[in-house]
Amino acid sequence: MKFYMRTYGCQMNVADSNEMGRHLKAKGLVETENPDEASVFLVNTCTVRQHAEDRAFSEIGRLRRWKARGPGRKVVVTGCAAERTKEYLEDRFPFLDLVVGAKSIEDFGRIAEGLLDRRETDEDLDYVVPAVDHKLAAFVTIMRGCNYSCTYCIVPSVRGREIYHSVEQILSDTRARAAEGAREITLLGQTVNSYRYGTARFADLLKAVAEVEDVKRIRFMSPHPYYMSDRVIETMAAVPEVCESLHLPVQSGSNTILKQMMRNYTREQYVSIIEKFREVMPDATLSTDIIVGFPGETDRDFRETLTLIEQTQFDWGFIFKYSPREGTPAASLESLPQELVEERHQECLALIDRFAQEKRSKMVGTMQDVLVEADNIGRTRTNYRVYITGTVAPGEEVRVRITSAQRATLEGVIEDGNIDFENFREEDKSACANRG
Ligand code: SAM
Ligand code: SF4
Repeated sequence: MKFYMRTYGCQMNVADSNEMGRHLKAKGLVETENPDEASVFLVNTCTVRQHAEDRAFSEIGRLRRWKARGPGRKVVVTGCAAERTKEYLEDRFPFLDLVVGAKSIEDFGRIAEGLLDRRETDEDLDYVVPAVDHKLAAFVTIMRGCNYSCTYCIVPSVRGREIYHSVEQILSDTRARAAEGAREITLLGQTVNSYRYGTARFADLLKAVAEVEDVKRIRFMSPHPYYMSDRVIETMAAVPEVCESLHLPVQSGSNTILKQMMRNYTREQYVSIIEKFREVMPDATLSTDIIVGFPGETDRDFRETLTLIEQTQFDWGFIFKYSPREGTPAASLESLPQELVEERHQECLALIDRFAQEKRSKMVGTMQDVLVEADNIGRTRTNYRVYITGTVAPGEEVRVRITSAQRATLEGVIEDGNIDFENFREEDKSACANRG
């Protein structure tokens, strides 16, 4: 029996899909890349913007025919849109076998129990091989939910309040992923750096995860500026496994809008975090999320977002058009005209892309450590994708000279063959010292 999964939305959803996948595999199902072979089709939905929800719902609509084509086929819908609109989904798509909201993902194993009407014997189960992902880069969820109340955001209502996993559980999940082959771990949470468990804080967790055998790289998503303390920044710089890359959503460059969004920081505070970060990690990349067209955003507010981009010179960024989400405080405010939002979106994209292209061009000629994820495609510690010329197997970390910078990716050639991870870092430290 095989299952196929389609995931919409953020890394958190990818991590949830992986977790649900592990439950299904533990029940003896095998993952397939081909929906025609599958008996279970799982759609893990996103509701953060209307567009993401619409795409998932139209896919679900098409699954009625998929289901009719094979006896016993099951359709499962999970995630944030499932949490928000469970009843609507069940009414509109009566062929669904199971709807599991984002708040219940941790219970998925139990909830999905009744879904599989296979009559396994104990002997059958003996043949079930433990699930192995063979993924070099794995996600580890460290907390669920969010205690913030950003006025545009649906996440707190569909994922609930913050719940932290214990340090022990996080380390055990990390060890499990490392044993499956993961060398890069991304710690996940909606405000990941607000993590606390007993006396442990996020910085302590970074150090603890770095100690896990075979973990060579650590990333995290998404930190909130409010919790981006000096201690977290200094720990990032001090722990060699933590990659030189920070994704720190800013949302707007206007203090008026930041206040209306209830983000709990000002533009000046955000900039001073970046200054500190760049002081201690000068070679790191910095990326962000920005929302344009929040209700009441004036031309002046919007210009302030543009000047923030110029001032900060992000290495890349995600620019979202504001999408009203039912039940959020901002949804009751009057929306800006769609053409204006569209215009601002284009202008903001063009500016962020200009800096992104400049930054990528500057990478040409530099030497980078690239962890190869798939045949000839890898990632630098600074989180650029690189196409590598030459033969190299997934799992290796190689020293690559960047030869060209395309729109979204870099190309490079292997310079010195493979280098042991540890030696690498030593080399990097002296390279930094030489540059400095
Ligand atoms: N927890 C993260 C944080 O606070 O930065 C972000 C989580 S959210 C899933 C990812 C991004 O979606 C946000 O950073 C924001 O830019 C964007 N987003 C969230 N709600 C949105 C909305 N209603 N309209 C447009 N973009 C939105
Ligand atoms: Fe949403 Fe704000 Fe929580 Fe991020 S911090 S998930 S944007 S409410």
